[in-house]
Amino acid sequence: MRALIAGLITVFKHLFMRPVTLEYPEKKRFQSDAFRGKPEVNLGENGCIGCGVCKKVCPSGAIEYIKNDKGEVDSYNFDLKKCIFCGNCKFYCPKSAIKLTNEFELGTVDKRELILEYKRRVND
Ligand code: SF4
Ligand code: SF4
Repeated sequence: MRALIAGLITVFKHLFMRPVTLEYPEKKRFQSDAFRGKPEVNLGENGCIGCGVCKKVCPSGAIEYIKNDKGEVDSYNFDLKKCIFCGNCKFYCPKSAIKLTNEFELGTVDKRELILEYKRRVND
């Protein structure tokens, strides 16, 4: 009987409290600047120089890139099937060319979409 009353008191207390859940996906919780979501790379001006540090420090082998004859990175891939969003690539990049965005809704039924491919634009 005592447990039942304690349970009812808890229920009534929560009736007058603000909910702690959100109506996701209509409402989303604020993400801090330190959040590590979808990775992006800048292959444009003042961006990636193809030094290879990101690839070396990536613990899961999620990064691949292709260089052209001039040594510039033409194409750069993050494999989200492997990426663990550790942030090493961003932290060690000497050009600050990588950022981990706030984007976290990365689920898909097509695994080809889990390869994030960035290409150098011709005029860059
Ligand atoms: S560490 Fe930065 S500059 Fe070096 S290859 Fe990776 S993204 Fe490019
Ligand atoms: S966040 Fe970590 S696991 Fe993902 S690509 Fe960068 S270094 Fe690799």
